[in-house]
Amino acid sequence: MKKASLAGIGMTSLRTRQRLVQRLREKGITDNRVLAVIESTPRHLFVDEALGSRAYEDTALPIGHNQTISQPYLVALMTSLLLGEGTPPARVLEIGTGCGYQTAVLAQLVDTVYTVERIAALQRQTTVRLFQLRVRNVRFHLGDGLLGWPEHAPYDGILVTAAPPEIPEPLLAQLADGGRMVIPVGARNLQRLTVVTRSGEQLEVTQHDEVNFVPLLRGTD
Ligand code: SAH
Repeated sequence: MKKASLAGIGMTSLRTRQRLVQRLREKGITDNRVLAVIESTPRHLFVDEALGSRAYEDTALPIGHNQTISQPYLVALMTSLLLGEGTPPARVLEIGTGCGYQTAVLAQLVDTVYTVERIAALQRQTTVRLFQLRVRNVRFHLGDGLLGWPEHAPYDGILVTAAPPEIPEPLLAQLADGGRMVIPVGARNLQRLTVVTRSGEQLEVTQHDEVNFVPLLRGTD
């Protein structure tokens, strides 16, 4: 693990997380780096206390503001697709901070996560949460993720956790040469998980699972 290590926090729920990891393996997740991080990340601390007992089920859960914490399988799959086979990307842009679970998983695998959220209240809460969990290699930005975060571009990796109807042009422009973007693309209730790899001016696009993410909305709240 890199900069952040959540091992030690949430030891009591380790057994339930190990069962979750087993389920993710059965569903086809093979990247041991990703599985190890999911095993050590206390997902129950990212949801409301009342939902804590369901935190290690492989489902999305509500986090308020009409948003959800992503299903662990999708967090694992998207992280695996972003990492690829070789050296993990160093600097990663995440669009859709939400409760910060995906952010915390990423932060344990890459050097720096630049994360953008459009809902101020959610962002404030998550900034505090990740600070308390001692995840320190994350930079937060309140803004419209459709525009990316140009100040720190280009990024070796871009991970988008809300769905636009098509790939936003500014995000493509902020992807480094050799960089990879993982993004759900499509209609409101059904999208295709899409991976875009840049080599020079060439973009290679591959499509993966059908998914159902909340929409990527314009502007801030
Ligand atoms: N990454 C989260 C899931 C977040 S749900 C997890 O780990 O579970 C998607 C998030 O994207 C929501 O918080 C939503 O407010 C945010 N979002 C939607 N449109 C956005 C935009 N244009 N810019 C930034 N964030 C956006």
